[in-house]
Amino acid sequence: MLNYNIRISGIKDGNHEYFFNINGKFFESFVKPEVTDSEIKVNCNLFKDGNKLKLSLNIEGNILNFNCDLCAGGIKLSIINSIDVFLQETESEMEDTDEIIYIQPNQSYLDISQLIYEAVILSIPSKIEHSGVGNDICDKEMMVLLDKYAEREEINDPRWDDLNKIKDLI
Ligand SMILES: [Zn+2]
Repeated sequence: MLNYNIRISGIKDGNHEYFFNINGKFFESFVKPEVTDSEIKVNCNLFKDGNKLKLSLNIEGNILNFNCDLCAGGIKLSIINSIDVFLQETESEMEDTDEIIYIQPNQSYLDISQLIYEAVILSIPSKIEHSGVGNDICDKEMMVLLDKYAEREEINDPRWDDLNKIKDLI
């Protein structure tokens, strides 16, 4: 497991940048990962101003293990997302929110792997389809086959058998 810790204490005011490359291995430590193959660049910026700490995460890249909803062909899904959170010191146990991550007063590092994971998962669109631009097009032959298959499924639907039986009785 690679290290996704960033230093949050004993740092100067200003911007502190970190870069990570996320491939399929990154997701292995998460339960039931949807993503198993990817090439994603993460740019993490920690901005410190006195007591204030702001973390900005920018992710951009491709998920490579998804299939198109329309033609079932492999797809190179481009994703992009950014997340901003404030780090807030607290002595008590507090639940993190979308805007605030709570840190201990003596904490020197923050593991941002969960944040990266969420940024990637939230960037996945509900419909995954070839865009139709350039080479990113659906496999037409496959769509025809899928259509035929779907039709046959309908014909063989056992509910139709029951309906036909009733029709015969009438
Ligand atoms: Zn497609």
